[in-house]
Amino acid sequence: MTDDLLDRLRRFQSDYFPAHQQRFQDLVAQGQHPKTLFIGCSDSRLVPYLLTGAGPGELFIVRNVGAFVPPYDGSHGLHGTMAAIEFAVLSLEVERIVVCGHSHCGAIRAAYEGAPEEAVALKAWLKLADEALLPVQPSPEALRRTEQRAVVLQLERLMGYPMVRRRVEAGKLTLHGWYYVIEHGEVQVFDVHKGGFLAAAHAPNSGTGPYLPYVEHDGQVLCDS
Ligand SMILES: [Zn+2]
Repeated sequence: MTDDLLDRLRRFQSDYFPAHQQRFQDLVAQGQHPKTLFIGCSDSRLVPYLLTGAGPGELFIVRNVGAFVPPYDGSHGLHGTMAAIEFAVLSLEVERIVVCGHSHCGAIRAAYEGAPEEAVALKAWLKLADEALLPVQPSPEALRRTEQRAVVLQLERLMGYPMVRRRVEAGKLTLHGWYYVIEHGEVQVFDVHKGGFLAAAHAPNSGTGPYLPYVEHDGQVLCDS
């Protein structure tokens, strides 16, 4: 039996690495300074590097079932996603946080239909989508709307993280809600002012998060990047 994964590991070192060696070695010498924390669903069809054209050192990525953000509770539990957010914001000082959901998301479907009885952690995890669920049968349209609502819900939860809120309000961090439509190769961007998702082709920016821009007393709008 051929070990396809082993073949790929060997090809990475022999074919890909030599052409990018300097970049990797610079990243080791100078450390990583990614500007973006990418929180994406674990779905294999969502490929952050392809969507963003990013290379090594550009994205700090945390992925989980559904691209969910647990509510900040200040606890000391083994919360991988929470730990990644804290590290990215406090230590790496990222300038953007992207939450990327997608069409045909199995997590959102499972939030309606339930998970296997034995999957105790998964069942608990899927409750993070509860507030996004609609009181209807999960039709394709309802699923799509729920997938988008879930992205916005996670952005709202991010604002519950003290270090996130602080930096957003200081204009040092922006939040970006993305909805990737796999079958169209299209990323839709949440527009907080319109309250909906716009195709990247028509969106004025890649997202600002669900917070109101800070308006000075003279009417000047700050932090509206
Ligand atoms: Zn998914």
